[in-house]
Amino acid sequence: MTDRPSPLQRLAPHLRGLQAYVPGDQPQGSGWIKLNTNELPYDVPASVIEAIQGQCPALRLYPEPTCRLLREHLATMNGVSADEVIVGNGSDEILNLVARAFGAYGKRVLQTDPSYSLYPVVTAIAGGELVSVPFAADFALPLDKIIEAAADLIFLTCPNAPTGVLFPLEQIFELLEASPGLVVVDEAYAEFSGQSVLPLLRDHPNLIVTRTFSKAYGLAGLRVGYAFANPVIISVLDRMRDSYNVNRLSQAGALAALNCQDYYDRCVARLCQTRDHLIDRLRAFGWHVYPSKSNFVYGAPSDESGRASLERAKSLFNHLKENKILVRHFSKPALTAGYLRITVGKEDEIEQLCKIIEAWNP
Ligand code: PMP
Repeated sequence: MTDRPSPLQRLAPHLRGLQAYVPGDQPQGSGWIKLNTNELPYDVPASVIEAIQGQCPALRLYPEPTCRLLREHLATMNGVSADEVIVGNGSDEILNLVARAFGAYGKRVLQTDPSYSLYPVVTAIAGGELVSVPFAADFALPLDKIIEAAADLIFLTCPNAPTGVLFPLEQIFELLEASPGLVVVDEAYAEFSGQSVLPLLRDHPNLIVTRTFSKAYGLAGLRVGYAFANPVIISVLDRMRDSYNVNRLSQAGALAALNCQDYYDRCVARLCQTRDHLIDRLRAFGWHVYPSKSNFVYGAPSDESGRASLERAKSLFNHLKENKILVRHFSKPALTAGYLRITVGKEDEIEQLCKIIEAWNP
């Protein structure tokens, strides 16, 4: 046999050090209170399940390749036209497409730090150069620094993840006006905040808004996300995506969910109430908690003198896990290593969480 380069030698150089995205645990088995991946805790409506089941006899056929019905419904609902909408296999797929389209070959891709840990991964896959702008402890948007960096592509999560902090619309307007590059506003959690940047789309062809059915529609398992942008941008993403990127079960389920809007509005209202209650409870324990406008809260189990630490956060994380409650801990950046991200669950789950926290003896 002739000497051949190994598969690794053939690998594109920019992928050699690629670090994968680390998803939160998805435990098998029952009895867990799962407050670690920001899923909606309420039931899937019967009509959504029926719509999905209704597609089963047609599974031998490919799905509609452009998600036409879903795009049209989303467009009407949001006051845009169907050529300003793309649907993806989760909004993760769309973030990936955007990075490959507009952040490739050394283009400068900016994220705030901390934010959604997928952005560095999609940037690395695209071969872009990641620029991280750190937050200060107050988590105000570092607008001047972001504008100054003059990146080609900016990822901004609003409300922010993992803190849940919402940025004022005026600041995002300023960013869109001043930034030479494209601005992706990741609105995965926007429904819980009562705010959206979508009205800014009309006058800003540099804006891409991404959304998802995984959070406020409680359909993370279906993998459906979407984005609004100028038709020129949508057309580029549309040509890059897989031809059948959203399967027929997912298209039907998402469409049926849009027909249950009243139900989901009630779910969001209930969740926001539980969230505000949880924030009060944690603050009463002496925690520092950011003012979340999302479906999770980010808080530090501080000691008596108000000090947060990585060790305390880890200790509580482990104590909760031993009691079959899963939350999320990110040890980077150092600024927030003493914090835990807790998804807002049902009322009784939050009660149980608080009980176990009270029994924690660090
Ligand atoms: N953006 C943010 C900020 C997220 O936290 C998530 C969920 N992990 C997503 C996007 C992706 O959501 P999905 O792919 O399920 O639509």
